[in-house]
Amino acid sequence: MLGLMQDRPLLISQIIDFAADYYGDVEIVSRTIEGPIHRYTYRDANRRARQLAEALQGLGIKLGDRVGTVAWNGYRHFELYFAVSGIGAVLHTLNPRLAPDHVAYIANHAEDQVIFVDLNLLPVVENVIGQLKTVRHVVVMTDRAHMPAQSKIANLLCYEELIADKPGTLEWPLFDERTASSLCYTSGTTGNPKGVLYSHRSTLLHSIMMTSGAVLGLNPDNTVLPVVPMFHANAWGLVYGCPMSGCKLVFPGHQLDGASVYELLDKEDVDLSAGVPTVWLGLLNYCDQNGKKLTRMKRTLIGGSAVPRAMIARFWNDHQVEVAQGWGMTEMSPVGTLTRFNRGERSLPDDARFDIIAKQGRPVFGVEMKIVDDEGTTLPNDGKASGNLMVRGPWIVSGYMKSEGTGAFTKDGWFHTGDVSKLEPDGSMVITDRSKDVIKSGGEWISTIDLENAAMGHPAVAEAAVIGVHHPKWDERPLLIVQLKSGVDAGKQEILDFVKDKVAKWWLPDDVAFVDAIPHGATGKVLKTELRRTFKDYTLP
Ligand code: ADP
Repeated sequence: MLGLMQDRPLLISQIIDFAADYYGDVEIVSRTIEGPIHRYTYRDANRRARQLAEALQGLGIKLGDRVGTVAWNGYRHFELYFAVSGIGAVLHTLNPRLAPDHVAYIANHAEDQVIFVDLNLLPVVENVIGQLKTVRHVVVMTDRAHMPAQSKIANLLCYEELIADKPGTLEWPLFDERTASSLCYTSGTTGNPKGVLYSHRSTLLHSIMMTSGAVLGLNPDNTVLPVVPMFHANAWGLVYGCPMSGCKLVFPGHQLDGASVYELLDKEDVDLSAGVPTVWLGLLNYCDQNGKKLTRMKRTLIGGSAVPRAMIARFWNDHQVEVAQGWGMTEMSPVGTLTRFNRGERSLPDDARFDIIAKQGRPVFGVEMKIVDDEGTTLPNDGKASGNLMVRGPWIVSGYMKSEGTGAFTKDGWFHTGDVSKLEPDGSMVITDRSKDVIKSGGEWISTIDLENAAMGHPAVAEAAVIGVHHPKWDERPLLIVQLKSGVDAGKQEILDFVKDKVAKWWLPDDVAFVDAIPHGATGKVLKTELRRTFKDYTLP
């Protein structure tokens, strides 16, 4: 027997409508690319998002069409989140830090029709415009006065002009809640980036989970500053969760250094923030060097890479800021686990609490987890066995865009995370290793394959392998391990110089280590696990 409840679809447009209706005066504050701080309210944002939706329809954007953004965290990006998804089109957030070939690959693979770009990121699009096969319009997210005088791109459109004459009276359409809402590419394990296509349903369920009391407990008294980029898994869902809960939102734009982030945290009364460890290291150092205290901030959500215990202690001891560690993946919308104190644990002594926070967290309601061995046999949650982490749930990817990377999915609906972890009897998850080869530096992926291919082009290199080694600021940086051809010689610098112009600048390995032989496994693949063991304590220059 089916239940007899209304079957209203869960749609993203409901979030902005709700915020405008019930939290209409709550502010969104943005540091702009043009310079000044911009302020307006959820009511204003809803009106402008509708105007933008009308403008998109005017450009021929329909249900299912992909609209790209190359943008920082700011109010116009926020409007795009609701305007694009609101009319049933798909918001494709591109990561501006990717190498140009990847930007072009992703935009073509997604078949983006229009790209919206922040003023200071225009070169990212200009660099690849000749390679873009489906893009019909490029819109610069600024007003007429700040439009570039010239550009490699013909007929650049101006955001403010595009929406200026639109009435903003559009009614958000209703459609199936399983309709795709946004798209984010991940480097995943191997090969080209893969598209993770979120739906309205998955996005709303994930957002409701994030706001709930046992997770972030968001409410109208919170002021939230997401440092985590809106091009990275929807800023961990905060772009939706904050308007749902009436939180004041503060967007940092492109200035993510310690001084700029501190200024906003302080002046705007931010009590909750979220970002990768690298950003917080910058902030903590800034505070130390300038004798500043985080007086307003109460909590910070840190994830994307393991959070060092020392950082947790520093936040608490120096600033009385409580860290919540989150673990997740773009494929998981992204949150899978989060620091959650069970009954009685919050009053434990500091050290015992830091121990809990230093683990990756406990699964949030809605995410199932298990660990398996290489044959797929489930291992016990005893805190001792370490295995491949598998996840299942309503906001977890069921397949990649255009059916790529099918190996990551099991027939009975589990997704292989590529992380190796332990599950403890108290529900905590602890990552012990990563079976995927990508390197995570400052929260962003570096493809080892691209670096290896580049190095392998050097005439003296027999084989090259790249692994991530620990770095105090960036969490991980690439180390290039090289086996030279017999009888030939080449120095570190020569090889780095050779690689330099073939990859994004920040991907360049920090060092080169020479070995007699690169180890291989049974199927002929480089044994990265063994290399990681060998170079575990390697100190980068
Ligand atoms: P995100 O948006 O969370 O950075 P990605 O898909 O880019 O998502 O990266 C996901 C991967 O990052 C995870 O599979 C894991 O390897 C790593 N990761 C994320 N959070 C943590 C964490 N708290 N501790 C350790 N590794 C983490």
